Amino acid sequence: MRFFRKKKPVPDGVFIKCDGCGKMVYRKNTEERLWVCPECNYHFRISAADRVRLHLDDDTFREIDSGMTSNDPLRFVSGESYAEKLTTDCEKTGLKEAVCCGEGRIGGEDVVFAAMDFRFRGGSMGCAVGEKLTRAAELAASKETPLITISSSGGARMQEGALSLMQMAKTCAALQKLHTLRIPYLSVMTHPTTGGVTASWASMGDIIMAEPGAMIGFAGRRVIEQTVKEELPDGFQTAEFLLQHGFLDMIVERKNLTSTLSSVLAYLRH
Ligand SMILES: [Zn+2]
Repeated sequence: MRFFRKKKPVPDGVFIKCDGCGKMVYRKNTEERLWVCPECNYHFRISAADRVRLHLDDDTFREIDSGMTSNDPLRFVSGESYAEKLTTDCEKTGLKEAVCCGEGRIGGEDVVFAAMDFRFRGGSMGCAVGEKLTRAAELAASKETPLITISSSGGARMQEGALSLMQMAKTCAALQKLHTLRIPYLSVMTHPTTGGVTASWASMGDIIMAEPGAMIGFAGRRVIEQTVKEELPDGFQTAEFLLQHGFLDMIVERKNLTSTLSSVLAYLRH
């Protein structure tokens, strides 16, 4: 497969260790399977650029707001300053923020597309990420094209404090407008999608999909167990558990995701 030749989210080498089963697996074999473990079907995290290459029709993507970045509103410092961390992540990923948004086509259908990149501050949502997603939703509304988001996030960005939390309300308000206009919004949750991202736009999809085995939740297991003073069932934050309990509409293997998005879009158009 030619999608994943440019940027590699996992270290170089002939073998890589699978985070799912712990086995050493052939890198090339895993890459050919779109970064899915040949032994246990673990879906490795992939970059926003990989998502664009994988899901959108060739050469149709036009990025918007690519220069938008956090302006560190709280001048936050804890050890290394937040500003320094942002610079490091920019250099590491070539991105200015943890989400990449734009217009493109899936199966010939116009869409507005947003994919998060976990390598940038753990895919966390600060003011810039919230603003980019809001603008993506507004663009979808103005063009009357469906919106598709691919989430992968550690939640709200603590270095921007309450301003991060406000992004939850802002993104949801923009999505509500889409809903009023009856424009489809498809949300795909990938491993992991947690915190304020799960608690806002990622859970607002008209259809909510997830990749197999994805960890999806709000607070972590330990925090919940300490709060409710109860032991939680095994796998309670996996995509499979959430599907069973009605939080998800479907679980889709990565190799089938593009065609599934395309057929759902075609279905909704009619
Ligand atoms: Zn594995």
